[in-house]
Amino acid sequence: MQVGVIGGGQLAWMMATAAQKLDIELVIQTPSQDDPAVAIATHTIFAAIDNAEATAHLAEICDVITFENEFVNLEALAPIEHQLRQKGAGFYPELRSLAPLLDKYHQRQYLQNLHLPTPRFAALTPTADLSQFGSQFGFPVVLKARRLGYDGRGTQIIPDLDSLNAVLGQPGQAADVWLLEEFVPFERELAVMAARSPQGEISLYPVVETQQVSQVCRRVFVTSVLQPEVVAQVKAIATQLLTHLNYVGIMGIEFFLTAAGKVLVNETAPRTHNSGHYSLDACETSQFEQQLRAVCGLPLGSAALTCAGAVMVNLLGYETAAHEYLEQRQQLEQIGRSHLHWYGKSVSRPGRKLGHVTVLLEDGQLEKGQAEAIAQHIEAIWYP
Ligand code: ADP
Repeated sequence: MQVGVIGGGQLAWMMATAAQKLDIELVIQTPSQDDPAVAIATHTIFAAIDNAEATAHLAEICDVITFENEFVNLEALAPIEHQLRQKGAGFYPELRSLAPLLDKYHQRQYLQNLHLPTPRFAALTPTADLSQFGSQFGFPVVLKARRLGYDGRGTQIIPDLDSLNAVLGQPGQAADVWLLEEFVPFERELAVMAARSPQGEISLYPVVETQQVSQVCRRVFVTSVLQPEVVAQVKAIATQLLTHLNYVGIMGIEFFLTAAGKVLVNETAPRTHNSGHYSLDACETSQFEQQLRAVCGLPLGSAALTCAGAVMVNLLGYETAAHEYLEQRQQLEQIGRSHLHWYGKSVSRPGRKLGHVTVLLEDGQLEKGQAEAIAQHIEAIWYP
């Protein structure tokens, strides 16, 4: 079976082992020879990920096409979906499942219509009275680009009205590209990976805690500190959302947990997600295998842990350099029960995701303090 993947970053690269296991050939559409997934693709179409002509070509040679990012141009892809359907194939998730999710404002509205809890939000219009939002939400407020934000790019925490005016008053700013929302003083941030098959079978991974630094995910903890009621809220939301979207594929969903134990949806990622990387080493079926299973119509695998828990730490670039970091990598591999995944990017830049390490936990290590000490140890090796 030939599966097309739009995007050739590390999320496509990490599909390799599962593709081999399931006897699937990956055909990747990605712009650059240096992109990680080029090394594992059966065939690569070198083109920008929003190049619809290239995707039309991908559609000719593939049985199904899936995504490794959410930079999807629905209008351009609509005729290609038609072309795919005629040969009994398709995009998975389907474009109609993606349509409510790609714009953060539309996504919030969709969640609200389903009565799923989210932070209070509003779209900024060109004529909006900004002071009104201050009184509506209080400061700080959170300003988000409605489209194409990732890793915190496009998300800003704005302390007061003057700063909001300053950001939005910059020349060339179109006000209607912004979503404004209340700042949630969360106790923790949570995430879950959820998959759904064409038959409607749903598989949920463990609910994890994520920690962001400067809006970028740094650590993921799969431990046992969460209350069962919290886990139940997260799982109910994920099930309702995927079912309602008639979603086929895998999705990462991020949440805020408030001090009162309430769960709010922050955002959804209609693809594999950083918060699910631990599943490569800690689960019976990795998120990448589950994505392939779902989009190919295979029975979903078990999302159960094969160990007591896990800690995942992202290795983010901290300098601009062409460096292999061999010494640090060697030290990280020497940590007991650690699994290093190095994405093979040729250039490091501050904040760039260069790899990740997962350490599997044993029964006695499930307290958060112990897991945090492991994360700190990894970071002490990685960051100079
Ligand atoms: P991105 O799409 O770039 O990942 P997010 O909307 O997920 O952006 O925001 C990134 C991070 O910023 C979140 O993980 C959280 O730490 C912080 N953040 C986002 N929205 C809020 C909010 N309303 N209140 C408090 N913190 C927020």
